[in-house]
Amino acid sequence: MRPVRTLREAREAVASGTTVRALTEAALAEARRQQDLNAFLELFDASALEQADRVDASLRTGTAGPLAGLLLSIKDNICYKDHRTGASSRILEGFTSLYSATAVERLLAAGAVIVGRTNCDEFAMGSSNETSAYGPVANPLDPKRVPGGSSGGAAASVAAGIVHAALGSDTGGSIRQPASFTGTVGLKPTYGRVSRYGLIAFASSFDQIGPFGHTVEDVTDVYNAMAGVDPLDSTTSSRPAPPVTLEHTGPLRIAYYRDCVERPGVAPAVREAMTALVERLQRAGHTVEPAELPLPDQQVPTYYIIATAEASSNLARFDGIHYGHRSKAASGVEDTYRLSRSEGFGPEVQRRILLGTFVLSAGYYDAYYAQAQKVRRLIREATLRTLARHDLILLPTCPITAFERGALAADPIAMYLQDIFTVQANLAGTPAISVPLGTDADGMPFGAQLLAAPFGEEVLLRAAAHLPTR
Ligand code: GLN
Repeated sequence: MRPVRTLREAREAVASGTTVRALTEAALAEARRQQDLNAFLELFDASALEQADRVDASLRTGTAGPLAGLLLSIKDNICYKDHRTGASSRILEGFTSLYSATAVERLLAAGAVIVGRTNCDEFAMGSSNETSAYGPVANPLDPKRVPGGSSGGAAASVAAGIVHAALGSDTGGSIRQPASFTGTVGLKPTYGRVSRYGLIAFASSFDQIGPFGHTVEDVTDVYNAMAGVDPLDSTTSSRPAPPVTLEHTGPLRIAYYRDCVERPGVAPAVREAMTALVERLQRAGHTVEPAELPLPDQQVPTYYIIATAEASSNLARFDGIHYGHRSKAASGVEDTYRLSRSEGFGPEVQRRILLGTFVLSAGYYDAYYAQAQKVRRLIREATLRTLARHDLILLPTCPITAFERGALAADPIAMYLQDIFTVQANLAGTPAISVPLGTDADGMPFGAQLLAAPFGEEVLLRAAAHLPTR
């Protein structure tokens, strides 16, 4: 059998007698058939089939969880007990997780089957999945092109029709941008809504785990099963997280970043589709008012100063002693640290550790890191002011569609600037979602992005589910 695309279809298949084991076998076969995408670093055949049998048994006894039938992939920076996890880095070669991420635990308890772990940019640093130590991922819609990053394998595993949903992580856009590039839905929850326990840290004050899917409905089901306080992550919020349902909302007040659409460098197809979307929203009775992206020229630099500072500190634990790769050429402790890190980390990770160490160093701390924290606060306050007057902010997810492999790899600044529309949600801690909006002349998809106030997932997901995208 061919895999079915959505959880809803999987539920229907299960209701008419298909086993979760059969669905799982089909997904594993499909992943192998499409292995040239390089989306999966490993398929978890044995544990996936065991879990499928458990879910089938629970269906027979009427004790099945809400996600029975869901086939899921997890990004290679999310821990799953007794399975390899490597952040697509040589430095974690051979590392096996000692515990599962809270998100993984909750999804397994709800009946999800985890099919495998997906390729990503090394330590989630990148926008094209080209910094992985295990090679790039191809975009299923055009294999010459990148799937976006850093959760490129996650997006590709869904877009290729292998799994219904994927877990990614979003530090500066790594769920939303690949969703835009692959025609899928991608949600970055509010900071503190989903536990980061068991997520390999990149920039701890930005990182969030979130789902990809073909529909807002599937993404919502996965989100509902993960959201909520976790005693193992002190940055999770203790606010109740009642399950979000997708009823129609009444008329909404939407702030529309027209300057983002009119900016030079925004693809004409993106501009036209956003303008048409605004008109449809107005015709549907919503109030859409122009607003402006706060501090547009400062957002990306602020994000990269803080993200690299936090990364340089987080990645200090990879020293050749505690985890993974240890240099064979080293003699003595210092040599072991130096050579293991030089051999284990790729060029992009090394660049970020250097940048982060620099902005935190005694002579430059005030000029860069402290300054960036102040600018971050201004961006957050401006965002929250807009969201106090409006239910949502609407802007494109990315200025462009998926580019060809190699097109930006030699120019890190051009690559970093791709994040212009996505870092605001991370700087401000708000939830944000990318939903497919249209395609360009080459047939490549792009998304519309919505932001809501912190913990406003309900209005965000409801609006996304009913967005008049055509
Ligand atoms: N592209 C951004 C970066 O390279 C975002 C990465 C992410 O969200 N993990 O930092």
